[in-house]
Parts: sequence; structure tokens; C-alpha cells
Amino acid sequence: MEWQSGEVSSPESHNVPTTFCPEPAEEYWAQVAVETTAGERSAWSEPARFVTGLGGMGWRARYITAETPACPEVSKGTCVRGTFTVDGEVRCAWMFTSALGVYTPWMNGQRVGSDLLAPGWTSYHKHALYQTNDVTALLRQGENAVGGMLAAGWYKGLMGFLGVRNNYGTRTAFLCQIVIRYADGRCQIEGSGPDWMGSDSPVIFAEIYDGERYDARLERSDWCLPGTSSTGWRAVEIVRGDMDVLTAQPGCRVRCERVLPAIRLFTTPEGDRVVDFGQNLTGWPAFAVRGRTGMACGLRCFETLDAQGNVYTANLRSAKQELWYTCASNGEVEFHPEFTYYGFRYLHLLSWPEDAKAEDFSAWVVHSDLQPVGEFECSEPLVNQLHHNILWGMKGNFLDVPTDCPQRNERMGWTGDAQIFCQTAACLMDVYPFYRKWLADVRADQTPEGGVPHVVPDIITGQEKVQDDWLLSQGTHSAAGWADAIVICTWTLYVNYGDRQILEENYAAMRAWIEFMRVHSVGNIWNYRLQFGDWVALDAAEGSYFGATPNDLTCTAYYAYSTALFAQIARILGREADAETYERLYDGIVRDFRKAFFTPAGDMTVQTQTAHILALQFNLAPPEHRSRTAQALARLLARENGHLVTGFMGTTFFPQVLAENGFVEEAYELLLKEDFPSWLYQVKQGATTVWEHWDGMRPDGTMWSPDMNSFNHYAYGAVGEWLYRGVLGLQADADAPGYRHAILRPRMSRKMRFARGAIDTTCGRLALGWAWEDDGVRIRAEVPANARATLELDGLRCAEETDGVAFVHGEQGLCAELGSGSYEFFCR
Ligand code: BGC
Repeated sequence: MEWQSGEVSSPESHNVPTTFCPEPAEEYWAQVAVETTAGERSAWSEPARFVTGLGGMGWRARYITAETPACPEVSKGTCVRGTFTVDGEVRCAWMFTSALGVYTPWMNGQRVGSDLLAPGWTSYHKHALYQTNDVTALLRQGENAVGGMLAAGWYKGLMGFLGVRNNYGTRTAFLCQIVIRYADGRCQIEGSGPDWMGSDSPVIFAEIYDGERYDARLERSDWCLPGTSSTGWRAVEIVRGDMDVLTAQPGCRVRCERVLPAIRLFTTPEGDRVVDFGQNLTGWPAFAVRGRTGMACGLRCFETLDAQGNVYTANLRSAKQELWYTCASNGEVEFHPEFTYYGFRYLHLLSWPEDAKAEDFSAWVVHSDLQPVGEFECSEPLVNQLHHNILWGMKGNFLDVPTDCPQRNERMGWTGDAQIFCQTAACLMDVYPFYRKWLADVRADQTPEGGVPHVVPDIITGQEKVQDDWLLSQGTHSAAGWADAIVICTWTLYVNYGDRQILEENYAAMRAWIEFMRVHSVGNIWNYRLQFGDWVALDAAEGSYFGATPNDLTCTAYYAYSTALFAQIARILGREADAETYERLYDGIVRDFRKAFFTPAGDMTVQTQTAHILALQFNLAPPEHRSRTAQALARLLARENGHLVTGFMGTTFFPQVLAENGFVEEAYELLLKEDFPSWLYQVKQGATTVWEHWDGMRPDGTMWSPDMNSFNHYAYGAVGEWLYRGVLGLQADADAPGYRHAILRPRMSRKMRFARGAIDTTCGRLALGWAWEDDGVRIRAEVPANARATLELDGLRCAEETDGVAFVHGEQGLCAELGSGSYEFFCR
């Protein structure tokens, strides 16, 4: 079937709606050609292929389980299988699958597709995803076998630091529908149902935190082939599933991005054999082992060595992160697990044949498959390594949900971490589908009163009473900076990708959140039960996680910021009455913030770096005292000898706030500091991802308490935002979102010789590079098609090579308007 849109006249080059109504479960190819206002016409694009979801066809398949009701405590894997007949020439065939638990789909003896840890983690009862795979080439005439291997996963396994299992249900189950379209026009639908069979699998144990145990002696090579005998198989049971919450996974499926070889195998001073991959990562180890029948080989994944060079696992808390494999025969075998994941750089060989070599081991890097978009390079190798660490922190924690860390018994969608890192993430990869998916869960798990959980998917609400947890008993939702994710992430997606739909989709949830704060504030000062505030700041009392900036201030600052964004969103969507209501509310919050946290002389009542950073970043300092506030911040920084003592809230904006308020040199000094505490301190300590604590590993070799000491936590990596928006100066303009208009405002300093980079935006590649030459600076810029940019070069007075562009003298320096194209300038 062919469909032609005809000519669509639009100034947009993305988010152009179509009226096309596709068939369900069908494949399509799409091609576009573009004509400019000058009448130039492009060639047709390469065809892009897509497959539609089940849509109106709906589910005829049922969820089936091989587990009995007596299995809630069991973390054993199962498999289920069924058969069907193909009769005729097949044009195309699709397998639609999902599970309660995690699964791998199989057909005629082969693993189908490349999705890992599917169906991922969502608030399953309210929002569940299914995966689609092309199985045309796997079908044969006559009988075919189809199956699924299942394990506990996030659905039924033990999750959260409270150690609760069966968070969504007590039995794993598989759902599979196959749609076969024949050349003669027939459509055949097959699905999992009561006629399928089930059995235990060789996976004798699999849990997200604790790892996997696999007994190869239990393998049945014919388990998913046609004609298998029914010996050893039992009847499956139908499990009631929420079919109407199932939707097709919108991209960003979890995949293996690359396989890293081990770089060495060595023995520690304590005599342990350790394999090193040279990179902290998330995924799983793969190995070749030469064993004997019945031999059990075991290893443990971990992140770091201690100061003496020995295995350090205390920071994993109760997460075992082990892998055990029992050999079925003598000789070499290769294996990797699939129903768990690990955060690690090293493997500790717990029980392994003596002849192990580094070449026997590799590591699968596993995360949500997102298009990389960022490029950054500068003259400082340590900053380049920091950029690398930020990127790898993102890879390690963007595994279906934005997690805090990938190694200890946590790995949850902490809303604060996801919010703080959102803009940085959007500079590094195309995160639109990833955050959009997660925001659906934020909405799903929002409290009826509009509160937003600390973690999404929310597995902690309700548990705090049962578990008597000191922290969570104070509250499981609605912390400033965390709950604001619903507004800030939505806004960040809109600004970066220009899709209004994201604003519409989350409008009611955002409004409910603002209302929640309004209802619980007193005189516009908002605070509520458990707050994390400037989490893990160094100005906290010794041993405490809570930074010194009081909650009234951090909460009210975020209340103001979210309200300002929401009022702006209401305007964009033409909801004028709301816009007015929330603009008024915003004015009131700002007024009362100033009353509470500024003296009449213009000093802040709270003398922390973070208080000043938030007041400046969120425009809360009275305009007449703005520069006084910035100077006070610079003084507070100088008092620490140029070091930050900020936590999650202050750190993100620190260099940005300095640079935006006349302290560009101080911003660079802060970024380039190499001694403790600083970003580059970690880099010099050999970090390959970003740490949770500034003092995760102290200069004297001691570590922060193992209670909470992740070496792969992206939150402080939010400085990546400043590398792109500050150092390179690549900024989206909210008034022409999706980079239709960009602001190119590099904050240049002689403290770097050069910096260059790009973001592959929805419009195309937006790039900027600057390099000092003796008497000036050379600037190269690239503006994508159908986009414009305003170049602002602060502190420069004279453009000598202009590439035909007209420069004007602005308040701060030189400015120019750029259309699409590549440019080179030389300025002084
Ligand atoms: C997580 C953080 C999170 C915090 C909230 C921690 O355990 O790892 O990143 O935001 O709790 O308090």
C-alpha cells in the first residue's frame, strides 16, 4: 500500500504531523524530499523502514507462566514454548512480545532480535511495553516452534535498598503474539496461550542485584525446535495481565553497545585473581573457560580496588553481583549471562581454573540504545577525560530507566538525579524517547494529590511502613529538586527537541505538582516532610548526607523555578488563564523568597555557596542586588580556596552561574581545579566514570563510608551541561525550540588553548570551536539547515576575518546573526 502526503508547507524540518493512518502490524518505508522557499528541491531521502504496533488488532495472546503459585521466593529461570504451522509464501511476519519479569524471545532454535533485559522497567500495572521483532527469515513451512526464557527481573525480583521482592507480582509470565502476512493476502495470528508448555531453564538463579547462576547441564538444545518430545515439560497457567496498559516500546531499547576486551589479569597483594577492563561500565562479563563436567566457575563483579590494590566490594552493600557457571562437559565453552546486570570495572575470580588468561574475558556494555549527539574536545586532557567519564556515567545509568547507580542494591530511578542530569544527557545523546518513556511512569506513579515520588518507577511507597526505614518513614515523595523532574525534564525536552506534544502530555501532571507545593506552602515558603536538599554537599555536618543549605530555601527556590517554567508552558500552549494564575503565584513566591532569604542590604541570610547559586540561577536575587549576590558567591568560593563544597543542587549550576555573572575566569578555575574536592581530582585518581561523593576516595586513600559510595553516579557529571553550553556556547533558544534558533555564546578563557565540539540537533549539526592565536581568537561555527544562530562573543572588540558576516558591537562584545552554513572568523 502506498500513501503520499503531497506537498506539506511548513517552516519546520521536524515534528511535522502527518494524517497517515497505518495498518497495525505492517511494515512501511518512508521517503521525504524537501523544497526550500527559494525553490531548490532535494533528491528523495534513502527509504527509512518502520513497523507499526498491534494497534486496533489488539492482543489475542495471553500471559502464560511456567511458575506455580508456590514460587514467590524463587529466583529460578523458566522457559515456555508453543508451536504453530506456516502454510504458504510469507510476505512478512512479526513477533510482539512482553513479559512479567525479564525475557528473551526465541524461534526455531534461535534467539530473536537484540533486545536485552526486555521489557525493561516501567510501572507495570499502569504502563507496560512490548517489543516487536521481524521473524520473517526465521519461519519455515509446516511446524514452527516459538518460546521465551524468563527470569524475575525488576517485576518479581528483590529490588530497592529495603530489599523487597515481588514488587509487582509473584509469578513471571510471557506474552507473545505472532502476526504472519502471506503473499496471497492472508493474515495469520498466533499467540501464547493454554496450549503452550513450560519448564525450568538452565538459569538456576537470576536477580538484578545478585547476578546469575547457570547450570549448563540443564540445557536442552531442542527446547525451542519443532517436534521436541513433551518429556520434562509441564502445562502452563494463564496469568491475568493488564492488556490495556501495553504499548509498543518507542525506541530506546536496551542493547549491547560494544564489547570491551579485558586489559589485564593480575593477582592482588591479598592473592586474589582479578580481571581489569580499564573502564567502569554497566552490562555483564562474557568469558571462555576450559572446565570439566560439573565444575562450577564463579566470579564477582566490582568497581574499584582499595588503596592497597585489593578487591573492594563493601560499597556494593548487599548486592552480590556474582556469576556462577557449571560446565556440562570437558573442554572450552563460552558464556555470558542475560537475566541480570552488573556495574563493574573488575572481576574477582572466586573459583576459576588456573589457566585463565585476560583474553578469556570481555565485557558487554549494555544500555538504552540512544543516538550519540555530542562531541567535545579541548586543550586540557583531564577535561577531555572528564567528558569521557560523564558520557560513560550516562551509559552506565541509562539502562531503560535513569538510575542513580548501576552497582549496589539500589539502581533506581531517583527523580532528582534524572532531573539534574537531563540537560547534560540531551547534549550527549538523543534522549527524547528515553525521558518521554520515563515521564510516562512519573505520571503513572504521581500521588492522587499531585506529589511526585522520590523514585520512579515507585517501589518504595507503602514499604516504608512495613520496613520501618528511618529515612523513608519521613516521606516517599515530593522532595524539591527531585519531584520537580516532572516540570524540568518536560521543559528540557521541549527546549531541546521542540515537540509541543511533550508539554501537552505532561501538562496535567505538572499542574498537579505545582498545586501540591502551593497547598503545602505557608506564605509561599514551601517545605514538606523528607527533603534531600543539597544532597551529599561537603558543607554537611561530618558524616551527614544533608548539605548545609536549609530546606526552606532549597524548596522555595525550586518552587519558584518550576512555577516560572509552568507559567511559560501554559502560555506556549495558549492556556492563558493558567498562565496568569501561575505568573501571579510566581511573583508572590519570588517576593517572599526575597523577604525570607535576603536582608534589606542585599545579603543572603544563608551563607552557603548553594544558596547563592540557586538565587542567581533561578533569578531570585533582587535585581538591584544581583551583582552583590554574585560577588558574595565569589567570596564564598575564595574562602574555600577556589573549591566547591556544593551538593547535587549547587554543583550543577556553579560554573554557569559564575560565568553568567561576570566571573568567567573563576568558572574556569573551578572546572580546572585538580586537587580535592573537584571534578578533576577524581579524574587524577583514575576515575573512568563520575563518583557519587567528592570524597569517594580521599587523598589519603581512605574511602567515604561504604553505606553509600558509588563510583558511577552521573549527578555531578551535570557539569557536562557547562562544557557544551558554556565552554562551547551551544545553547537552544526556548523561543525557537529544537535548535531552530541557537545562541552561540562561548565563554572563552585563556586558561584553555582551544575547545571545539558539536551537538547533532534535531535540525542537524550545530558546531563551534575556538582557538587562541597570539593576538586573537579563531572561531569556527556550523549552523544546520533551516536553522539560525546568534553569535555572541563577549569581551571581543574587533572582527578581522568575518567570512562575509556583519558583526555589530553589543553590550558585552561582538555579535552576529548567522544563517545555515559553515563559518570561520578571526576576532580580537
Ligand atoms: C541515591 C541518590 C539519590 C538519593 C536521594 C541515594 O541513595 O543514590 O543519588 O538521589 O539517594 O536521597
